Amino acid sequence: MWRAYAALAALALGYVVVELLGIKWAWLDGWGVSGFELVVGALCIYRAATMTRNRAIPILLGLGLWSWATGDIVLTIQSLGGATPPSPSLADGFYLTFYPVTYVGLMLLLRRNVRRFSLATWLDGGVAGFGAAALCATFAFKDVLHHADGSAAGVAINLAYPVGDVLLLGLVVGGAAIVSGRRKLPWLLLAAGYALITAGDMFNVLGTSSFVGTFLNAIAWPLSILLVSVAVWVQAPAARPSLADEPPGFALPALAAGAALLILFVGSLHNIGRVSLGLAAATLLIAGVRSAVSVIGLRSLTEERRRESVTDQLTGLGNRRALFRLLEAFLAEQRDPDAPARSLAFMFLDLDKFKEVNDSFGHPAGDELLRQLGVRLQDSVRASDLVVRLGGDEFAVALLDAGADYAATVAGRLTARIEEPFVLDAIRAQIGASIGIAVLPTDAGDAADLVRCADLAMYRAKLAGKRFAIYQEDLDGAANRMQLVEELRDAIEQRRLELHYQPQVNLANGQIDSVEALVRWNHARLGFIPPLEFIALAEDSGLMGALTALVLDEALAQCARWHAGGEQLTVAVNISASDLLDPEFPALVRRLLARHELPAGALVLEMTETTAIADFERSQLAIQELHDLGLIVSVDDFGAGFTSLAYLGSLAVKELKLDRSFITGLAETGEGRDLALVRATVELAHALGLRVVAEGVEDNHCLGLLTGLRCDLVQGYVISKPKPADELTLAPHALPALPARRAA
Ligand code: C2E
Ligand code: CA
Ligand code: CA
Repeated sequence: MWRAYAALAALALGYVVVELLGIKWAWLDGWGVSGFELVVGALCIYRAATMTRNRAIPILLGLGLWSWATGDIVLTIQSLGGATPPSPSLADGFYLTFYPVTYVGLMLLLRRNVRRFSLATWLDGGVAGFGAAALCATFAFKDVLHHADGSAAGVAINLAYPVGDVLLLGLVVGGAAIVSGRRKLPWLLLAAGYALITAGDMFNVLGTSSFVGTFLNAIAWPLSILLVSVAVWVQAPAARPSLADEPPGFALPALAAGAALLILFVGSLHNIGRVSLGLAAATLLIAGVRSAVSVIGLRSLTEERRRESVTDQLTGLGNRRALFRLLEAFLAEQRDPDAPARSLAFMFLDLDKFKEVNDSFGHPAGDELLRQLGVRLQDSVRASDLVVRLGGDEFAVALLDAGADYAATVAGRLTARIEEPFVLDAIRAQIGASIGIAVLPTDAGDAADLVRCADLAMYRAKLAGKRFAIYQEDLDGAANRMQLVEELRDAIEQRRLELHYQPQVNLANGQIDSVEALVRWNHARLGFIPPLEFIALAEDSGLMGALTALVLDEALAQCARWHAGGEQLTVAVNISASDLLDPEFPALVRRLLARHELPAGALVLEMTETTAIADFERSQLAIQELHDLGLIVSVDDFGAGFTSLAYLGSLAVKELKLDRSFITGLAETGEGRDLALVRATVELAHALGLRVVAEGVEDNHCLGLLTGLRCDLVQGYVISKPKPADELTLAPHALPALPARRAA
């Protein structure tokens, strides 16, 4: 196709040369040009055959060109033999048909190219269109009436051309101003093409005999028709999606407004037609409205940007920037010696199990959960408090004029709201949260420090399985942490850690067959530190191996003493992920069993579900190795994560400890979902050859339920709290009467 156009362009160029040389070939000016125009028009119409939609556009534009060409043919025939064609003539009819057909084609094209445009864009189009029309009118109408031959039809027809031209140019320049991106090129070609037609027209009407006039008159029509025809074929490369909204640019409107100004200026000095003055004034008026719209738009845009910059897109809560702005403002106020002293409690909130929901149910579900969570959080605080999403599943709340106590109350309320199930489409998901609390100005001197303190407290809360923790310099402070590590190292080396034991009752006969060893650190200065707090410290500072070795040694020593005293107890020891994956660990276990002359069957090793899943393949081998020693590997806290039982079936574990949250749910409702869940878990575990331990059992009612569910062992305050070995009661436990259901 482009070759055909190149050939036609070469022909047009040849024609220009002939014209420039002043050679007059009647057949060329008449038939040659008309034939050229017909072919170019045909190419334009042919474009429709290559399109699937919007075929009317090239057809209409092509028909317009053909109508023009037909006018030329009629004129050529009428001029045969040197005759003077009548004026007005049949040719005028064809020439004028060109306008409406072309308008309709252009309007269709505009409608296709322009879907949703802002008021400002339309105004830009208006400015460009009116400006072009004003310019065109200035020249087109100038001498029309002088050249009219006097008859009414003659005047009308002579007037129809400039009016048609003004409208056409206005439309096409306006369109070129509105349309943006890759669709702009065709419009620029159309604008150039029709501008040439208009220019040719004017010289025709004016009948000027200057060199430029003759030249333009001759070349304008073929060339413009060529441009229009090419325009329906050009296909700019597909735009990058990000550029789809690119603004149309303001060169054309600006030029048009400038032209309108010039017309008005020249019009005040010279005699310029009313039509063009009116159009020029309209151009400037629209330009004025356009500026006003821009200013208003700019202002609301600025406001929107500002709001967006402090808002979290997903939840509509504040974002990190909003938080730091508030904290900085608060600190700045506090630096003012005249300002009243105030406090600010800060909560750092990290979701538990959110990742599992996201991974299991997909990101849309995760996003929906975060959105709902945002509403809950916002509803649970005062209007003066700031709730922000820091990113991912981390949130923060700033409570103005509040201390740690008030924050603790709010933290309790927030976690309760967070733990309520979320309904996401067809699924119900439940998550939890750990909150760290720190207070300004007590705990920190700047915003970053405050967030760090709350983060440390949160970390401690999470490890301790608590809902929230308040920052404590002693435990969380960097300097103190270093010191604490040293003290822990000393405590382990000097074997100053103590073990408490918690009995497990066999539900078949009420006997106490086994105990779990739980480590205790009675710190000289800080008092009693709960295991989860210093176990994290041990893990972080590489002391875990030594700690486990100590606990194992002590627990097995105690077990040996019990065995010597006639109590055939099994002792359960907790191990961490680093123990499990330590290649030396099985050898250590074997050595300690040998040292205390105990069979492997006297030992149970408890590891959490997450430990086993983190590095599944290595864990699988390590568990197998421990199992082969003859001891029992147990999965602790089962149900706290999302691991499926079937997954655990491929591990050499022989015991399942139902997570305390399972049991708490059972104790609270004792029916429905929780009961069904525990029953199914117990049944499946049994089917896989695992024995089931229920831990955290606090009352007899729950104990009864678990007996009915055929749980194997029960551990919890209802039997005994963890105690030093010499305070432990090992007598059989009196089991409550079994629920009637069991008989069935
Ligand atoms: P765990 O292994 O799940 O231990 C059970 C925890 O629940 C113990 O807390 C125990 O005191 C508590 N508990 C027992 N019965 C009840 C009850 O009826 N109600 C309630 N509310 N709680 C009950 P403890 O002793 O503070 O231990 C916390 C965690 O510290 C343990 O959780 C275990 O993961 C870890 N841990 C304890 N000792 C060791 C150890 O020697 N080595 C390792 N690696 N971890 C240990
Ligand atoms: Ca345990
Ligand atoms: Ca547990």
